[in-house]
Amino acid sequence: METLNKDILRGGQFLVKETKCEDVFTLEDLNEEQKMMRESTKEFVDRDLWGHWERFEQKDYAYTEETMRKAGELGLLSIAVPEAYGGMGMGFVSTMLVCDYISGATGSFSTAFGAHTGIGTMPITLYGTKEQKQKYVPKLATGEWFGAYCLTEPGAGSDANSGKTKAVLSKDGKFYNITGQKMWISNAGFCNLFIVFARIEDDKNITGFIVENDPENGITLGDEEKKLGIHSSSTRQVFFNETKVPVENMLSERGNGFKIAMNALNVGRIKLAAACLEAQRRVTTEAVKYANERIQFKTPIMNFGAIKAKVADMATNVYADESACYRAAKNIEDRIALREADGNSHQEAELKGVEEYAIECSILKVAVSEHVQHTTDEGIQIFGGMGFSADTPMESAWRDARISRIYEGTNEINRMLAVGMLVKKAMKGHVDLLGPATAVGEELMGIPSFDTPDFSELFSEEKDLVTRLKKVFLMIAGSAVQKYGPALEEHQMLLMSAADILIQIYLAESTILRTEKNAKRFGEDSQAAQIAMSKLYLYRAVDIINQKGKEAIVSFAEGDEQRMMLMGLKRFTKYTNQPNVVALRTLVADKVAADNGYTFD
Ligand SMILES: Cc1cc2nc3c(=O)[nH]c(=O)nc-3n(C[C@H](O)[C@H](O)[C@H](O)COP(=O)(O)OP(=O)(O)OC[C@H]3O[C@@H](n4cnc5c(N)ncnc54)[C@H](O)[C@@H]3O)c2cc1C
Repeated sequence: METLNKDILRGGQFLVKETKCEDVFTLEDLNEEQKMMRESTKEFVDRDLWGHWERFEQKDYAYTEETMRKAGELGLLSIAVPEAYGGMGMGFVSTMLVCDYISGATGSFSTAFGAHTGIGTMPITLYGTKEQKQKYVPKLATGEWFGAYCLTEPGAGSDANSGKTKAVLSKDGKFYNITGQKMWISNAGFCNLFIVFARIEDDKNITGFIVENDPENGITLGDEEKKLGIHSSSTRQVFFNETKVPVENMLSERGNGFKIAMNALNVGRIKLAAACLEAQRRVTTEAVKYANERIQFKTPIMNFGAIKAKVADMATNVYADESACYRAAKNIEDRIALREADGNSHQEAELKGVEEYAIECSILKVAVSEHVQHTTDEGIQIFGGMGFSADTPMESAWRDARISRIYEGTNEINRMLAVGMLVKKAMKGHVDLLGPATAVGEELMGIPSFDTPDFSELFSEEKDLVTRLKKVFLMIAGSAVQKYGPALEEHQMLLMSAADILIQIYLAESTILRTEKNAKRFGEDSQAAQIAMSKLYLYRAVDIINQKGKEAIVSFAEGDEQRMMLMGLKRFTKYTNQPNVVALRTLVADKVAADNGYTFD
């Protein structure tokens, strides 16, 4: 039995507290059971998904349904479902792991999987009554039934609480009659159950309902949407016309729907990040295999520096993403366990455990969805003209990746949420930003130290730099909060820059901590490429933070304050020993080329 670490960081605290490398969970910490689960998931993907990749491209919706059913038979839909309701009740890390490795072959399947196991099932496991769970969850866990989630409407997208769908109580008080139009509903074409959000009377907030899919009960579907990617994911409009829903099918309480929707999305966001990992690994591996074989100018193109730089960045991005995703996943798992130990029910513990790390969930959603976009784009570039051909999987990988920046809250919304939630946590006293921000202000007024630090130990300079990067965020966010107060949320361009700084800090730190932990236990020599990737990621993060920091400072600060903050930015982003970026990229690319693919997971 693992002992509980009571000192785990709260959500957002990574910014103001030091994390020791021993305290982060990494992919290298998976236990035997988790490794076996990963292998069986990969086998399913290679056999049933990757092996039939063309069918997914040819809009074979029936095949998506068939493979979802197979996934159910193999138990892959029930990992997160509590044992009491026919599931495996596995921990959060295991659920992330399956979501990660099942999602690499085609976005069509991963969207169906995510919509069903995440937003289609989780609202019931998190908010359902015992009766609701007993009635619906076992069927959803086995794949006998499939779920879908109806939040978006033609006039209510990012502004999700503004939906017009109505729920009217029947005269006898036994039913709600739901009427309205939902759009972009994943799995609509084959689901048995909808989670529907509707407004009762003129309530401020929407309410959630479990609605069985019955065409005889006023439910009709629009045609399949013609989409850029995820061709075999069923996406339709759903029309409800006086659909009768028993009052006992209300989820949680009246007016609690927006909260349910947002909490389901927190889980959805971190799981979506996980779902963008394996695609990056596979694209990187396919690109490297191609580059090793493709000869131009009598040389495998892998030997060209221009290609090596791409491969190195692709591998580095997914390595960083893995580091951050599994670090956060374990924090969530531990927080859930702590809450259960404190007497919370599993349901309550899970809800609060994920909510605690909502900032990290948004950070990961944005970072990983943008990395998968970049990686698939470079994948096409490495394949050259063949990359542009629909006969090779690069083209579909690129199209499939695009949706991840849009659903589960667009990346703009998630950027604003990440910073906004952090500021709110600070105001509530859950994360002390004010103290550290004041300390940074005082540091700026003081005279900098001119000592030459001893950076001989592995990552000593990098960790010192990460600590200083956090000061960049505190300096900018602290001043912005002081200047604008609650009106800060209107300064979106500033928030976007602040979010980018926050995102880079979390990913860079997670990457370094993972590698430091592994270097300590497996030896530095075995981690040469991982060390290079960690240094490379940080170097690029420093560049982004410099750019975004400057943009923010020159836009909202003036005169002496501006000069002081720019000086702070320079001081906080300064390397004593600049890394040789060409050497780092070459080392990483040569390792990936020699392994003929991405082998760091
Ligand atoms: C393939 C697919 C599957 C989907 N599956 C589902 C599903 O199963 N269930 C479901 O309920 N929904 C689903 N959606 C809907 C999806 O969640 C929404 O498309 C998404 O939330 C964005 O809403 P929207 O399309 O109305 O865009 P809008 O909200 O109109 O946004 C348009 C642009 O404006 C920006 N924007 C909006 N508001 C702000 C603001 N306040 N500040 C700054 N910028 C802003 C956005 O970031 C975006 O760039 C799906 C969508 C697609 C395309």
